[in-house]
Amino acid sequence: MTFELSDRVQAVPPSGIRRFFEIAEERDEVISLGVGEPDFATPWAARDAAIASLEQGKTSYTANRGKRELRESIADYVADRFDLGYDPDEEIIVTTGASEAVDLAFRAFVDPGDTVAVAQPCYISYEPGVTFAGGEVLPVPTTEEDDFRLTVEGLERAGAADADMLVICYPNNPTGAIMPAEDLEPIAEFAREHDLTVLSDEIYAELTYDGEHTSIASFEGMRERTIVFNGFSKAYAMTGLRLGYALGPADAIGAMNKIHQYTMLSAPTTPQYAALEALDTCDNDVREMVEEYDRRRQFVLSRFREIGMDVFEAKGAFYCFPEVPDGFTAEEFAEEVLREQGVAVVPGDVFGDVGEGHLRVSYATGLGDLRQALNRIEAFVEEHA
Ligand code: PLP
Repeated sequence: MTFELSDRVQAVPPSGIRRFFEIAEERDEVISLGVGEPDFATPWAARDAAIASLEQGKTSYTANRGKRELRESIADYVADRFDLGYDPDEEIIVTTGASEAVDLAFRAFVDPGDTVAVAQPCYISYEPGVTFAGGEVLPVPTTEEDDFRLTVEGLERAGAADADMLVICYPNNPTGAIMPAEDLEPIAEFAREHDLTVLSDEIYAELTYDGEHTSIASFEGMRERTIVFNGFSKAYAMTGLRLGYALGPADAIGAMNKIHQYTMLSAPTTPQYAALEALDTCDNDVREMVEEYDRRRQFVLSRFREIGMDVFEAKGAFYCFPEVPDGFTAEEFAEEVLREQGVAVVPGDVFGDVGEGHLRVSYATGLGDLRQALNRIEAFVEEHA
C-alpha cells in the first residue's frame, strides 16, 4: 500500500540544500560553509542553569505560553533592546524554536487562497509554511542594487498592495542585508496604507555589525498589525535547545497559542531555564560572539574581493552572498566547488529565484577553516573562471 499524500505536502519540493549535504557526505575533508548555525557552544552560564534545573527535577510541562518568569524576561529584553512593549501575560508566546512560531502564525492567520507576500531571497521555511497553511506565496524580489533591502517600489512592482500579509526577515538569511530605520519606515507606511499584516522574523537581531537593529513593530501603528519572531538559537548559540518566541497583539498571540496548546502543549522546559539565564547574564558572551563574527565577516568579504568575486557588503546575521563568476549557474558552481575542492556552500536560488547567480556562504565557522575554504575557492576560480 502507498500512502495518499495530501496535495499540500506534494506541492512542496524537497529541500534544495539537502542534495549538497549528500554530496558532502561522500567526500573526505569537506569544509562546510553551508550551515546556518553558530559554531560556538551555548554560553556556560546558560548550560549550567539547564543542568541545575534537571538536577532539581524540573522536568514537567510549563504553562502553554512558556514560564511566566521567562516571558517577563523576554518583555524586559525586547523593551530594553528594541523599544518594544509587550505584556508577558497576553502578548508573548514561547515556542519550540522560532520555527514553530513561524508555522503557528501561518496556520493562525492564513486562509486558503490568501496571498502572502514574501521578501526574497529568504529563509527556506516561509514558502512551505504558507503552502502547508493553504495560502499562495507572492515573491517580492530584492536586489543587490538596493543592498537586498526591501523597497516600496519593489513591493508595488510585485503587486504586494493586494496581498493579505507580508513576511520580512532582517538581518536577512541568506544575504546578510539589514534594514536601517530610515529604510524600514516607508515599508511600515506601505503596510499601514494597504492594511497588510506583517510577520517580521528578527532572529538575527543581535547579529548586526553596522548600527543597531530596528524592529518594524516599533513604528507607529505597526504594533497592532505585526508579529515579531525571535529566539535563542542564533544570538545565544542554542540551536539544539529549540527555543524561540513570538510577540504580538493579545488576540493574535491567543490564536497562535490555541494551535500551540493542542500540538505542542509547551515549549521544552530545560531550555527555558537556559534562556532565563541567557537573558539575565550572557550579554558579554553575545558581545564576544558578535565581535568574532564581525572579524570573520570582514575577512570573508575581503577574500572574495581578492579572488575577484563580487560580493555585497553583508552587515548582519552570519552570511554573505557573493556572485558566482560568469559561466556558472549558482548550482553548478556550488556542486563543482564541492566535488573538486571539498567546500560546501549553498546555491542562492534555494532561497528564491532572485537568488540565482549567488552563493550563500556562512561564516559561522572558525577563521582557520574559513581561510582554508577561501584558498580552495580561489584555486577553483583560478582554474575555471
Ligand atoms: N528564521 C530564520 C531567518 C532562520 O535562519 C532560522 C534558522 O536558520 C530560523 C528562523 C529557525 O530558528 P529556530 O532554530 O529558532 O527554529
